[in-house]
Amino acid sequence: MWYFESLYPDIKLGLKAKLFYRKKTLYQDLRIYRNPRFGRALVLDGALQTTERDEFIYHEMLVHAALFIHPAPRKVLIIGGGDGGALREVLKHKTVVKVTLVEIDKDVIEISQKFLKSICKNSFQDKRTNLVIGDGAKFVRASKEKFDVVIIDSPDPLGPARVLFTEKFYKNVFCLLNKEGVLIRQTGSTILQAAELRQNYKTLNKVFPFVWLHLAAIPTYIGGFFSFSVASKRISLKKINHQKLSKKVRSLGIKTKYYSASLHLASATLPEYVRKIVG
Ligand code: SAM
Repeated sequence: MWYFESLYPDIKLGLKAKLFYRKKTLYQDLRIYRNPRFGRALVLDGALQTTERDEFIYHEMLVHAALFIHPAPRKVLIIGGGDGGALREVLKHKTVVKVTLVEIDKDVIEISQKFLKSICKNSFQDKRTNLVIGDGAKFVRASKEKFDVVIIDSPDPLGPARVLFTEKFYKNVFCLLNKEGVLIRQTGSTILQAAELRQNYKTLNKVFPFVWLHLAAIPTYIGGFFSFSVASKRISLKKINHQKLSKKVRSLGIKTKYYSASLHLASATLPEYVRKIVG
């Protein structure tokens, strides 16, 4: 049997896979496939979310490209991220005293803990983890708590995730970030989702003074370079010093399989076509 990604009408990612688990949750069609090369893969409403084999690239970039540039991240908010991969990486930072994860669909958390333990490990049981089941947009609108870093680990702007791409949402995130606050989010393929990337970049620029991109190639996210958008209140990419960043990464002794200080800066060097997309 094969799983074909249904994100695009004219190009499909195919994985030779067995359907391992399926549930119609309150919010989405949740499936887990098993492919000999990528292991178990989480699919929501037909869109591939993450696989055991290449999740480390996405989750390390999504977390460390934000936490390592913040002077001392203590409180982190993750919106989405029900597979626990981003949470696992945040908890590696010993300065972090509390991670609030707001996931709309409790089934994603339960099923990930049951069948994707290699991704979430024991991050949901960590005493610093504060789990909220709810809509991320509603949470940021109502939250009185301030955060140092906000990580939006959402699917593409489909279904319940649509609200996580609006200017109103970013303004609410801006208000709940501390003065050195940093936001990071996945903003899709630079080839297949260029219009979305451009739109999102423009929207972030309306709300934040500093906005930039990091790129990474993630084998099961089709469409070449995949983008991460960073928006910050006071930290600018130009001010990130390679020497200082390398020293900080070494001193914190965080084990990674993809991220490094050199890669952090190299991944922000954009090919001409991407520079044109974000103007
Ligand atoms: N790592 C994946 C990727 O690269 O796209 C996505 C991570 S995770 C599976 C995405 C999560 O966002 C899903 O569990 C989904 O239920 C959750 N989600 C979607 N819309 C949401 C919302 N409005 N508030 C909170 N969580 C939401």
